[in-house]
Amino acid sequence: MRQSQTLIPTLREVPSDAEIKSHQLLVRAGFIRQTASGVYSYLPLGKKVLRKVEEIVRQEMDKAGANEMLMPALQPAELWKETGRWNTFGPELMRMHDRHNREFALGATHEEVITSLVRDEVSSYKKLPINLYQIQTKFRDEKRPRFGLLRGREFIMKDAYSFHDSFESLDEGYQKMYAAYSNIFKRCGLNFRAVIADSGAMGGKDTHEFMVLSEVGEDTIAYSDSSDYAANIEMAPVLNNYTKQVEAFKELKMVETPTQKTMQEVADYLGHSLEKGLKSIMFKVDDQLVLVVTRGDHEVNDIKLKNLNQASDVELATEEETRAALGAGFGSLGPVDIEDKVEVVADYAVAAAVNVSCGANKDGYHYINVNPDRDFKINNYADLRFIQEGDASPDGKGEIKFAKGIEVGHVFKLGKLYADKLGASFLDDQGKSQTMIMGCYGIGVSRTAASIVEQYNDDKGINWPIAVAPFHVHLLSVNAKNDEQKQFADELYQKLIAKGIEVLYDDRKERAGVKFADSDLIGIPFRITVGKRANEGYVEFKYRSTGEQEDIHEATIIGKLSSLLK
Ligand code: ATP
Ligand code: MG
Repeated sequence: MRQSQTLIPTLREVPSDAEIKSHQLLVRAGFIRQTASGVYSYLPLGKKVLRKVEEIVRQEMDKAGANEMLMPALQPAELWKETGRWNTFGPELMRMHDRHNREFALGATHEEVITSLVRDEVSSYKKLPINLYQIQTKFRDEKRPRFGLLRGREFIMKDAYSFHDSFESLDEGYQKMYAAYSNIFKRCGLNFRAVIADSGAMGGKDTHEFMVLSEVGEDTIAYSDSSDYAANIEMAPVLNNYTKQVEAFKELKMVETPTQKTMQEVADYLGHSLEKGLKSIMFKVDDQLVLVVTRGDHEVNDIKLKNLNQASDVELATEEETRAALGAGFGSLGPVDIEDKVEVVADYAVAAAVNVSCGANKDGYHYINVNPDRDFKINNYADLRFIQEGDASPDGKGEIKFAKGIEVGHVFKLGKLYADKLGASFLDDQGKSQTMIMGCYGIGVSRTAASIVEQYNDDKGINWPIAVAPFHVHLLSVNAKNDEQKQFADELYQKLIAKGIEVLYDDRKERAGVKFADSDLIGIPFRITVGKRANEGYVEFKYRSTGEQEDIHEATIIGKLSSLLK
């Protein structure tokens, strides 16, 4: 591609609305432009990168036995009403009417379309399992579109759906997708982790998210420093390996804590560490009040609370509700003498507490020297807290560390959820009708491209890994007005293209300084500069990643590039 004939509008200034590196650099280096909030045009360079990522995705999906197809972005509301998601998906689903006033949605995801399609076309176990995928534009009216391609309202996703006749077959299909995803993100050059995730509202069982490690990630990952264990922090179980301190029980006393409200204020006032106080928080679990007790330095994990109670909804109780039940407001609650009043559950760590403090269920008062069993009874101890850095890894190997991650992919066992709702069944080998069992597997293609930039950049610009670079080689002529140099560069350009090497040729009549700066910004892995030594047949060869450069003879270029690109 000749740079004089394409559109690569580079910018020297950092765009004011771009907070993170990938957003700044993709705009500055002329890969993307914003058309509306969360909606982008991919300029020629941006499109090249997308195609590279898509091609890696396609190859690995095909290798895993999945089949590419294409479904419509425009989807009739009736399908979404059948699964109930017309209501539950909320304002993220973009909705519209056609000229006959019929309702439609712009596809945010394609479970409805694919499941109804397979329901209509597959009726026998002989056609199962089958995995169908597409690479297509998705629409989600995100509340906070931001970070450029990382969270758009229109973005490119690879979504795959598998259909099975048994849970064993689903497990197998899931494993294949898991392996394919690992290959995809490895080939993209990404530093990532597959983490155990929450299956949440989608109702499935197993689910893993593929997270690119990055400071700008919105999710926190708990990982082991000595094994490959990694989980979304919401999901990581905490081992029950607390040891009770050997300490004589002291006499229970009520003391005044006139203005102290937070755990820290109370601990400071009473002169003990945070972990020597019990934290008691009132929740509403499916409308029933439950007092949750943890150690003062621990945080309640409401997902664990929800799972423990097999509840569909968990929220904090209001201060009025709390006061009505226990006679005290927030900041003065505790588990002593409330057995009949509300249900109490406590984290395992509480069982190991000795001579700790807790609220006295009387505004402005706390108990000190509280001891479980002696001063209060808990029928239900469970793992109810968030894991913390320094905790033992749940697999028993090493310690937990935290990292931020960008979710680039998601594999999910859906089970029978959608097939049930849409009536997707098949006849088994006994001729009996059964519900299909499904998995779904998504990759944010545009988000993946941006994540690569997050991990591959320096103060000069982007530094693309070869596998996803828009071009292999950036060819520059220092002085395009010099006929000899121009002819040399033109010929080299033709020669490289003839060998199948992808070349961006900066043939613009710009100053050399501008060309070099643009080249560093765009970040193509290898740069060939045709300059003064063209008359001797020499060019400068430079590596973007290391900044290393050398003069090499024109005759050796093809050989060198072929081995570098292998
Ligand atoms: P998130 O928690 O980031 O909103 P999600 O759980 O809604 O993601 P999925 O429904 O699992 O995402 O979609 C599959 C993949 O699509 C995600 O793993 C992510 O890579 C990508 N994706 C989701 N939402 C967006 C978005 N708004 N912009 C770009 N990519 C997205
Ligand atoms: Mg989302």
